[in-house]
Parts: sequence; structure tokens; C-alpha cells
Amino acid sequence: MGVPLLDLRLQYQQLKDELDSAITEVMTNAAFIGGPKVKELEDAIATYCDTKYAVACGNGTDALFLIMAALGIGKGDEVITTPLTFFATVEAIVHVGATPVFVDIEPGTYNLDVSKLEAAITDQTKAIMPVHLFGQCVDVDPLLEIADRHNLVVVEDACQAIGATYKGKRAGSLARAAAFSFFPSKNLGCAGDGGVITTDDGELAAHARKLAQHGTSKKYYHDAFGTNSRLDALQAAILLVKLPYLDVWNAQRRDAAAVYDQLLADIEWLELPVAREYGEAVYHLYIVKADTTETADRVLGALREAGIDTALYYPLALHEQDALLALPGFAKPSLPVAESCDARTFALPAFPGITREQIEQVVAVVKGALL
Ligand SMILES: *Cc1c(COP(=O)(O)O)cnc(C)c1O
Repeated sequence: MGVPLLDLRLQYQQLKDELDSAITEVMTNAAFIGGPKVKELEDAIATYCDTKYAVACGNGTDALFLIMAALGIGKGDEVITTPLTFFATVEAIVHVGATPVFVDIEPGTYNLDVSKLEAAITDQTKAIMPVHLFGQCVDVDPLLEIADRHNLVVVEDACQAIGATYKGKRAGSLARAAAFSFFPSKNLGCAGDGGVITTDDGELAAHARKLAQHGTSKKYYHDAFGTNSRLDALQAAILLVKLPYLDVWNAQRRDAAAVYDQLLADIEWLELPVAREYGEAVYHLYIVKADTTETADRVLGALREAGIDTALYYPLALHEQDALLALPGFAKPSLPVAESCDARTFALPAFPGITREQIEQVVAVVKGALL
């Protein structure tokens, strides 16, 4: 029997009655765009993340882009971010016309190394976009201290970290604004694409909302060039059913991670994820790092042969991607820690509902891979 990286069919089976009736309700009322379900979800997310506002939109990529656009970040501005993340992080920076600047990551958490941040700040720097990678918050306090001193705005890419905490505060409430994704495989996923912005800044929320609706202030009157980025009412209804289960699912992910931590501890050629004391991670992915790419290849091969789902996160850091290398004026920086992750860091199944037997099966294959 194989083990999937995530079992969405299991989740649907668990919530089938609730989900089916929520979907039927939207179909019956035929309010598909905007309406009460979307508003209800925005309120629920703002409450959950402990922010004043939440603005639903089409996906996490748009959420990042809308925040950057609403902040007025654009041509000539530099935005500091991490080289180890999903590509969407840097797309949001490039699509508003700003220049991405990459700072290396810290080993173990794979998050932006805040101790290397200040050296990357120039007169053009306007913002810092940290990513709470794999479900663990970046070390936000020292980051905010540096940002304040240099008058920089901080935007959280919290797409992998809904429910994670930092010193008791939720991801999404830690900086000026944050972006979340409801892509099906995220910790809180819908049945398609979806995203949301959280912020305490009412002006920013209103501006982002306007940009998500074609820059509309009043129907057919436009005072800015925006885009069309909406969360469907159907997705909102589905998310409203799932949100009350999120904390339980995140706790199950943490439990699975703790079992892996224990069972894999004695493998010298495998680096386990580091959980920082300052908060609670939500293990969007349980990521391990092999000592070499050859080791990683062999383990990945053995896992796949056993029907165990796995993938590299990420095969290539962003500052080494063709799209960045082709960007006018982009000088490839040397970021050794991020580069050391290329094709060596990969995920082991740690989804909510994974059994101890499944984890033991994965561990046995990992341990046997180099024999
Ligand atoms: C998933 C993800 C995004 C983009 O979200 P979409 O909803 O797929 O557009 C952005 N940043 C990170 C770190 C992500 O994991």
C-alpha cells in the first residue's frame, strides 16, 4: 500500500454531508460572486488570524500582488525576499515592476536568515517579503526591528502557514499585511483556487479590495487600473465548513512531524527540520535534507518505488531560475545555504490523518534506501 503526500479524498469523506449541503445552499441561492458567504468567510478569517480586515481574492499569488500594488510598490523599488519559496512570491514583486533582492536562508528552518538582512538594504529598498516556509514563521521580531529602523514595509507570504504562531500571535497578523492561499493542497484548501489578504490597515484593505475589482469605486466607475480577482461564493462556503477543523488538522500534522523526528533521529545523512521555540509550526510540509543530491536521488527513487508520494521542495532556488536570470539587470547572487538545498530537500507524507503505521512504512523505506 502506498502513502500519498496528502489525502484530500479522506478529508472529503470526513466532511461529505457538511460540504454537500454548503454547496447545495450556494447553488440553490445562486449568488455565485460576492454575497454573504464571501463576507462571512472574510470575517471568519480575520477573526481566526486576529486581524481587523480580511479581503478575499482569486488566489495566493493575487493576494501578494494586490498587497504590493496597493502599497504603491513599483518601478525603481527593491523588495527583499527569500530565494527558497514557491515562484509566486517573486512574481508578485516583479509584476508590480519592483526589483527582487534575495537574502540567503538559515539552515534547518529554510526561512530567510534575518541576520543577513541588513547588508542587503539599499536606498531603493522599500519592502521585505518574508515567507513562513513549510508552515513555520520567520523570526519576525528582529526582522521588524530592522524594517522599522530603515522605514521598510513588511509583507508576510503566509500561504503555507495558516494557523502557525509566533510568540502567541498568528501568522497573518505579524506585519503590515499578509497573503494566504486556499489552493487545495494548502493547510486550509478549497476546491479550486482561492486566496485572502489579512491586515489591520483599513486603507490598505480598501485599496486592495478596489484593485481586485477593476479599480471600481462605484459600478462602472473606475479610478484605478486593477484586475479581476475574486473568491467564488462556492469556495467561500467550502472554506467555511473546513475552517473549524483547521486547528485539529494542524495539530495532527505536528503529531506526525514529532513521530518522524523521533524515528528518523539516528540517520546521519538526513537533516531533520528545525522547529524554533518562538512559535508553533503547522508543517505544511515535513521537509528533510539529504547530505548529497545522490543520496536524495536514491531515497526519492526508493520512496517512489514503494508507492510513497514525495517531491523536491524545491529543486532549484529562485535566484537560479531562468526567469530571474533573464530579468534585465539581475546579477545572480551567491546564496550558499539556499543553493545547498537544490535537489536535496524533499517532503515526507505528514498529512492530517496519516497513521503511525503509514509513517513507520515511510521511515522503513527511507532507512532502507542506502542499504
Ligand atoms: C501556494 C503559494 C503561493 C501562491 O498561492 P496560489 O494560491 O497557488 O496562487 C505563494 N507563495 C507560497 C509560499 C505558496 O506556497
